[in-house]
This record gives sequence, C-alpha cells and structure tokens, in this order.
Amino acid sequence: MSIPIYTYDAIVVGAGLAGCAAARELQTAGKKVAVITKLHPLRSHSGAAQGGINAAFSDEDSVELHEFDTVKGSDYLADQDAVEFMCKNAPETIRWAERMGAAFSRKPDGTIAQRPFGGQSSPRACYAKDRTGLTLLQTVYEQAFRAGVKFWDEWYAADIIYKDGKVSGVVAFNIRDMQMAIFNAKSVMFATGGYARAYKINSNAHANTGDGLSIVARHGLPLEDMEFVQFHPSGLSGNGVLISEAARGEGGRLFNSKGERFMEKYAPNALELASRDVVARAILNEIREGRGVGPRKDAVFLDVTHLGKDLIMSRLPELRELAITFLGLDMIEEPILISATAHYSMGGIPVDIDGHARKNNSELVEGFYAAGECSCVSVHGANRLGANSVLEAILFGRFVGKTMVKDIDGIELRPANEEDAQTALSEIDFLLNNNGNESIPALREELQQCMTANAGAFRTKETLQIAIDTIKELRQRFQNVRVKDKSKVFNTELQEAIEFGHMLDYSLFIVDSAIARKESRGAHYREDFQKRDDENFLQHTMAYMDNEGNIKLDYMDVVLGKHELQERHY
Ligand SMILES: Cc1cc2nc3c(=O)[nH]c(=O)nc-3n(C[C@H](O)[C@H](O)[C@H](O)COP(=O)(O)OP(=O)(O)OC[C@H]3O[C@@H](n4cnc5c(N)ncnc54)[C@H](O)[C@@H]3O)c2cc1C
Repeated sequence: MSIPIYTYDAIVVGAGLAGCAAARELQTAGKKVAVITKLHPLRSHSGAAQGGINAAFSDEDSVELHEFDTVKGSDYLADQDAVEFMCKNAPETIRWAERMGAAFSRKPDGTIAQRPFGGQSSPRACYAKDRTGLTLLQTVYEQAFRAGVKFWDEWYAADIIYKDGKVSGVVAFNIRDMQMAIFNAKSVMFATGGYARAYKINSNAHANTGDGLSIVARHGLPLEDMEFVQFHPSGLSGNGVLISEAARGEGGRLFNSKGERFMEKYAPNALELASRDVVARAILNEIREGRGVGPRKDAVFLDVTHLGKDLIMSRLPELRELAITFLGLDMIEEPILISATAHYSMGGIPVDIDGHARKNNSELVEGFYAAGECSCVSVHGANRLGANSVLEAILFGRFVGKTMVKDIDGIELRPANEEDAQTALSEIDFLLNNNGNESIPALREELQQCMTANAGAFRTKETLQIAIDTIKELRQRFQNVRVKDKSKVFNTELQEAIEFGHMLDYSLFIVDSAIARKESRGAHYREDFQKRDDENFLQHTMAYMDNEGNIKLDYMDVVLGKHELQERHY
C-alpha cells in the first residue's frame, strides 16, 4: 500500500493553546500550515484550565514583581531571560486575547478582574469565571480556523523525520482507519502538551501521555528537567480531578482532622497561597502524620463555605459542580475533601528563547521547534506558579510561530519518501501481531501506581531505584503484549499501546533525572537530601536516551539575572 505524502511549509503537532496560536501566526503570514491533532482541538487539555492567566497591569503590581515571583517560585532554576520576556509581554497577550474575542470576567468599573494565586505578590490572574482555558481555547482555535489553518483532527503523530540534525516532517496516521501519511515540511513544531498521566492520581486529560517527548527522545535528542513534576495541592480526594487554585485564591482555607488551619505552621505569611510545591507537601505531611480526614484519612478539608453562595456561584461554579459530581459534596454547604494530584510537567523538549529545539547544550536542531507544556524554555524552573502556564502556551505559541515565519525562507524542503514511515509502521505491525499475554490496562496501572508511590512529591534514592527497576521490568513485559483488537477502525486499544510505550520511556527520564539530583528544589523533594544545593545543582538536567533505551545525563547552565539567589520563604 502506498503512503501519501502531503507537503506544507510548516506542520504543527497539537491544537491546544500553543499549537493553535502558532498555526494562526504562520497562516496569517501567508505560509501553508497544517495542524495534526489526536483530539478535536477543543478537547485539548488547555480547555480544562480553570483558574486564570497572569499579567501584571494593575496599579499595585509591576512586571518586575511578576518576574520576581516567577523566579522565586521556580526555586531559582528558571532562565531569567525567558522569564523577563514572558512577564514583559504578558499584558499585551491579555489585550491580544481580548481583541481576538475572549471575554474575561470584569470588575464593576468594567476593567478586567484579577484574582490572587499562590506565590504571587499581587492579584494577577485574569480569568473568565472558572472556565478560563475553555474561553481562551475557543477564541484562539476559532481565529486559527478563520485564518484558514488546515486542521487534521483525530490524526495521531507517531514519529518525526529526523536526519543529519534536521527535522523535515511528521509521520502520522488517521485514527479513524489507521491510514498512514507523511507530512513533509520545511519546519515542524511540537505543541503536544503535558505528561502527568504517568501518575495514578493526576489532574490531566486521558490524552496527556507525553507522546511528543518520547517521539523526540527516541531520536537521541535531549529532554530537559524531567524530574520536576508539579503536584497540585487540590485534587478531589480519590481521583485527583482538579479543584483550581482559584478556590484558595478567592479565600479557601485548609484544615486537618484536628480542625487546625495547618498552613500556619508551614507558610506563616502566605498560608494557603504559598507556592504549590510548599502547599502540596504540607497537605501530604499532615496526612502522613495521621491528621488526614475522609473515609480513608487520605485527604484534608478545603473550606470555602465562608465565601457565601453568591461568590461561589459567580466565580467558582464549575468547581462546585465537580465536587458535587465526583464526591457528592456541595462546597456552598460544607468543606470538600482534597489532596495533592500530579498536575504539570515543568520539564520537556529543551528550546532556546526563540523556540528552536536544542540538539545539545550548544547546538540547535534545524527546522524543529516546540512551545507550551511539552517544551522547556525554562520559565517555570523547578516549580511553576499557577496561571503562568496558559500564559506561556499562548505567548510562546504566538512568538514561536513568528520565529518559524522568519526562519522558513532560509530552510530548504528536504523531500520525504515512504522509507521515512518505516519505524512507525514497524511499531504498529509489532503491536498488532504480537501474541503475548500482557494487557495494556494492567501494565499501565502498575506504572501509574509505581510512579505515584515512588516518584511522587516525596522521593528518596531507595524509592526512585524501585521506580527505575519497575519501569525496566515493565519495558520487558511490554515486549510480551497482546492487543486483542486487530481492526483498523478507531482501534483505541492499539493507540493506548503506542501511548503506553511513550509513557514508559519518558517515565524513565523522570526517575533517572530525579535519582541523580541529590538536592531538594521546587517540586523535586528528596527526603535524603532536603536542602537546595546551589553549588552542585543550580543546573538544568539534559537527559538523552541511547539505542539500548538507557538514559545518559548531562547538565546545562541556568541563565541567571537580576533576581539574586535567596532561600525561599512564604
Ligand atoms: C485541570 C487543569 C487545570 C489547569 N488550570 C490552569 C490555569 O488555570 N492556569 C494556567 O496557567 N494553567 C492551567 N493548567 C495548565 C495548562 O492548562 C496547560 O499547561 C496548557 O494549557 C497546555 O497547553 P498546550 O497547548 O501546551 O497543550 P494542550 O492544551 O495539552 O494540547 C496538547 C495537544 O497536543 C495534541 N497531541 C498530543 N499528542 C499527540 C499526538 N501523538 N498526535 C497528535 N496530536 C497530539 C493533542 O491532541 C492536543 O491538541 C491546567 C491544567 C489542568 C490539567
């Protein structure tokens, strides 16, 4: 069967905020661009963002404070040039989104309302009730569509074409009928989102399986700072469904089984609005020390009852619905049960400040770019501040789209041929025809349990070693997998098998990077090395996978700047 080859100037993989924003820039500049997305664009995880998007523009706030909060929140691992760029351009990003049609919630005087978020010196998160991501995604997608971007919905990107330091296309298949195609282009951008699905308790959409990262890593290209996985303080007890920080931003309080407002012990000034890593560890510590609540004593109370029905209904209606649906608790009437949930990936495909993917510490890959949660530029360092990520996705999405427009005429199209699809075809062939006795749901369950238990908010050398051994064993057993569905029509079992392979690979990056980082910084907390160690570890991890699937580690300097290193206190 011959494989069709489609030719474009640029291919964007991913139709969340980052992908849609980039594609619109390319299309409006007259470039021929296609977006490949395994989901309908509006089902991308960006649409689940609830709480807000940061920009410093009120009289009490300043760009410099936004920078300072971001760098402090990152535990000084963020690259300060990228942080400066993001914070400086944040107000313009809000104005742009508004001009494009996004309706933000407003104050009585008609100006854009802003709410407090953790780790921030001033109320800075602009929002649309608690449906901020949905409002923004609808707007940006609509504008990309209107500009004429061609969307290949429900197409699964399985590989990139990478040779001699240059990316020249994407190999993808139609989820509907497994038809494979090659998308040949001068330049390719990845905007494939996050990877928290590797954890049992997580806040992410089912699709967040980190495909983009593993696809890139399998070509020997680096992944940066993978050990930094954010655990959000407030997931619904038992399933991790997110209750946005907006609940605490609006005044929500945390209590343990003794009725103590325990954040007074951990962050006497910021209380519930300390940075996420601090609040998440405080919650887990209360539970570990026996002061948890709920039937399994594995949660704490989040109480917003004192805010009153009117405020809850006008600013947090979606959160209330979620707690009613999943826990049967109405937050107007009573406190709800929450605990930490795996939420966000600070690490990802390393890119320079313009969005070019790095081949190593000193070289770039030609024709390859990344933006949004799958990338690491690094504006979040070791811990992201709430409401900085939707900002990053839109702002860098647009900006990297512009970079691609500038670069494109200097890049030659290297023609693709059917051979380029061979790796993807062999992978599918193996999965469909292998008649082993392991099933994907069972293997995945073991991986997720293992990651939550051993590579979660608290880690030690011993737990991380267990995780490394488990992942290697699961890799062996994956060779003995059986996909029962042999059909070519919406074969979700096959897709899940491919995704599971991706989860295994990037999980090994997480744990190998984590075991080597013998310090605690931001979201990476080593109980056996509880202090930050700037002398040895003020560096980005750059990890590479070799042909045997082993990880090799290297390190890259952090870009420092005017915000000097300090110990963090909240
Ligand atoms: C519940 C929740 C609430 C959040 N709330 C906030 C908030 O209030 N404020 C904030 O700043 N941040 C928030 N975040 C984080 C933020 O929403 C995300 O980091 C951001 O939206 C990511 O955007 P993105 O464009 O990078 O990726 P996504 O929106 O995740 O999109 C990824 C895209 O990649 C595509 N894709 C992936 N793999 C493939 C493949 N193999 N082939 C084809 N397509 C593929 C998908 O189809 C999808 O279109 C929240 C996150 C969650 C989970």
